Amino acid sequence: MPDAPTPAFVFVGGRLWLDFVNTDDARLGVRLDTIGAFDKYVDWLEAATLIDAARASALRRRSLDQPSGATAALVEARRIRAALRALLERGRGEAGRVAREAAVAEINRVLGRAVGTRRVDAVEDRYVRTFVPVGDVFGGLVIPIVESAVDSLVRGEFDRIRGCADRRCPRHFADDTKSHTRRWCDMRTCGNRAKAQRRRRRRA
Ligand SMILES: [Zn+2]
Repeated sequence: MPDAPTPAFVFVGGRLWLDFVNTDDARLGVRLDTIGAFDKYVDWLEAATLIDAARASALRRRSLDQPSGATAALVEARRIRAALRALLERGRGEAGRVAREAAVAEINRVLGRAVGTRRVDAVEDRYVRTFVPVGDVFGGLVIPIVESAVDSLVRGEFDRIRGCADRRCPRHFADDTKSHTRRWCDMRTCGNRAKAQRRRRRRA
C-alpha cells in the first residue's frame, strides 16, 4: 500500500503531551489523525526530538519484521492519547472527577508497565527526557509523553491549558503569556482566520 503524504505536524501546544494530543488534528474542520500508521508515529517522535534519526530508522526496520508489535505500540499510543484528550475536554472541575481519575489510572498503567532507564539528554540548546526501554524495542515510546502530562498535573497548571478559541479546532495549548490572553492554537491559521473574519464583519 503506497503511503499517503504525511500531513505536517504542528507543535503549538507548549507542552509535549499537548502536542501529542494535537496529533489528533483537523484541517478545515475535518478531523485528521496525523499518526494514522506506525511510520507516521515514528515520524512524529522524531519531529518532536524524542528519538534521533538512528533510533527512528531502527524502529521503522523493526516494524517490518514485527508488524504486530508495531501495531500494538501504535494502538497503545492512541489509547493514551484518547485518555489525555478526555482529561483536557472533560476533566475539569467537580464534574470532571471521573474523567480525571480515568486518565490518571491510564497514566499509571503505562508508567507501571514500562521497564527501562529514564535519562535526560541535551538536544541542541535544551534538555529532553528520554526513556531507553529494556527488552521490547517498541515499549516505552510514550513514556516521555506521559511524563510530560504528569508534570502538568503535578504543577497544577490546568487552568492555563485551553482549547483553541476556534470551535472547529481540536487543538489544545498552554497559555504561557504573562497576560493570560492567548486564544488561538496558532496565529498563522486559526488566529489569522478570526482576524480576517473580524475585518470582514467591520466592513459589512
Ligand atoms: Zn486552532
